[in-house]
Amino acid sequence: MITKLTDEFIPVYGPVKSWRYGRSLGIDPIGKISTCSFNCVYCQLGEIEQKISDRSVYVSTTEILLNLQKFAPWDVDIITLSGSGEPTLALNLKEILQETKKLTNKPILVLTNGTTLTNPEVKLALTLADRVSIKIDAVTSKQLQGINRPAEILNLSDIWENIKDFRDKYQGKLAIQTMILSPWNTQNKVEYINLVKYLKPDEIQLNTPTRPKPIKRQLDGRGNHTEYHPYAVQKLKCISPEKLQNFAEEIYKNTNIPVRYKQK
Ligand code: SF4
Repeated sequence: MITKLTDEFIPVYGPVKSWRYGRSLGIDPIGKISTCSFNCVYCQLGEIEQKISDRSVYVSTTEILLNLQKFAPWDVDIITLSGSGEPTLALNLKEILQETKKLTNKPILVLTNGTTLTNPEVKLALTLADRVSIKIDAVTSKQLQGINRPAEILNLSDIWENIKDFRDKYQGKLAIQTMILSPWNTQNKVEYINLVKYLKPDEIQLNTPTRPKPIKRQLDGRGNHTEYHPYAVQKLKCISPEKLQNFAEEIYKNTNIPVRYKQK
């Protein structure tokens, strides 16, 4: 089977099936050029084309709403802001969330890497989402540099304090999502457990790469691209389902926070 690909950028895509959230319609507020404050080694968008942490309007709210209308009556479980990079880099984030809710009245989720939470405007905008899922793949700067390869030097403690501040004010459901490529050492596991105890998310989602990484940017990377793809990919390191399960159980035992992990 060959997957038909298109080069045309459309800011609403899917629905895609998410193991965490069910049938999800995607909104991409970033656009054709992948743009993120991270360049994660496992990113399904391929190597990030524009690695920056500046906020800007990449796709107008009007264009998003016009495309969203075509999907009425939105027979999905959730609408997810994610797409071609870090959605909170969109300066019109608040407007997109407000207008999407007004138009569809569906639950809205934002997937974020958390780097912009140091900005009070981002924190305020995110309170409009029903669910927010924040990526934490690293508990040390070395891990961060190796896995997430940020656009600039980041102070992890500063980000965590801002996540905590957001948690304390946020009424919606907060998840921490963590991608694990190789087994963590005991010290990192303990630090992670202490961190999530402090942050008190409603849920933790553990994941390991199950799809290969496109070598170059593919719009297809926004959705569920399968093992059948007419472009070059790189196989990624991952840990076994048993190891993922063991870590999930260890976290739950020590924190009482529900942990979900992807079972093949
Ligand atoms: S934060 Fe998300 S979009 Fe950005 S590089 Fe990592 S996986 Fe890709």
